Amino acid sequence: MKGKRVVILGATGTIGRMSVDVLSKLDQFEVVGLAAGKDIKTLLEIKSKFPLAKTSITDVSSNDVDFHGQDAIENLLSSTNPDIVIVGVSGFAGLKYALMSSKYSKRLCLANKESIITGGKFFIDSVKANGCEIIPVDSEHNAIFRLLDSEKSEVSFIHITASGGAVRDIPTKNLKDVTPDVVLKHPVWKMGARITVDSSTMFNKGLEVMEAHFLFNLNPKQIRVLIHPQGKIHGMIYLKDKTVKVLMSNADMRIPIAYALCYPQSMDIFEEFDPCGTYSLFDPDPKKYPALGLAYRCLEMGDGSRIAYNAADEVAVQAFLEGKIKFTQIYEIVEKVVEKGWPNDLKDYDSIEQVDKEGRKTAMEMLSK
Ligand code: MG
Repeated sequence: MKGKRVVILGATGTIGRMSVDVLSKLDQFEVVGLAAGKDIKTLLEIKSKFPLAKTSITDVSSNDVDFHGQDAIENLLSSTNPDIVIVGVSGFAGLKYALMSSKYSKRLCLANKESIITGGKFFIDSVKANGCEIIPVDSEHNAIFRLLDSEKSEVSFIHITASGGAVRDIPTKNLKDVTPDVVLKHPVWKMGARITVDSSTMFNKGLEVMEAHFLFNLNPKQIRVLIHPQGKIHGMIYLKDKTVKVLMSNADMRIPIAYALCYPQSMDIFEEFDPCGTYSLFDPDPKKYPALGLAYRCLEMGDGSRIAYNAADEVAVQAFLEGKIKFTQIYEIVEKVVEKGWPNDLKDYDSIEQVDKEGRKTAMEMLSK
């Protein structure tokens, strides 16, 4: 029997490499396509494990891959006819590629949160219209997805958890002097640079609140955040009879990746979970993490402000990593960009892309002041 055909977009990134690890342990899948941005060396190393896979590179040209250049991913998708696409690319480009993937496959294992945040209702509706399902890979959303999937009664609200990042135990008044080295030491998860900084500012959790809003069709008041330093509880759903269902697991991104691939089945390929230990859960301090409150305001303001929030944060985080601004200025810049006012109700890709570009440009202008 032939396995389900899988394409990995962003194969050389953090999610891509973890997906490769998961897929090499499961024999019901066949990796038919691997796409990367520019890291040809790693791409070819991965390809050696999956000799049948076609390869594509987007940002550089090379004769060692099957497709390169602007249309590389579309060519890869159309020639491999996948059942499942793992969307592990990072940033705004994820929107374009996730939309494209939904035309060629039946399931998106979606790790790219920007596509949901910037595309909003337009994105969710477009994927559905293409007859494709979304299984979230983001760990908190994967947890909520699992809890909701087996739930027959109505849910009052949900909690997604946050680690509080590397600055959790640093007093708010000292945050402005925090350097990139400190911020890049995430206490729980191993992730890329931007998302690790975003964990400390809680911009990541703000983005995840937006992500949950569209994925699960919940109103903002139904989506709540708790800090949970131990990283063992990932999501909770609250039912009308005041009971709470909790999903616990080791903090290992390969678990949600495997579940998204194998849904509705779960696979016996992971280390045992040890539930013993002391657990804490507490509300985030809004003064320490103002990015979270701003995310809720963006959901009220509409499409453009969410896109601006994401775009400005990406620019500001880069500036912080390059030593150009202080840690606390990341928030200050994003807030100013968001408050400029942005169009609401965006119904096509071009107008979304336009706001993304404008948001970045506005943030760059603020940096140069
Ligand atoms: Mg997450």
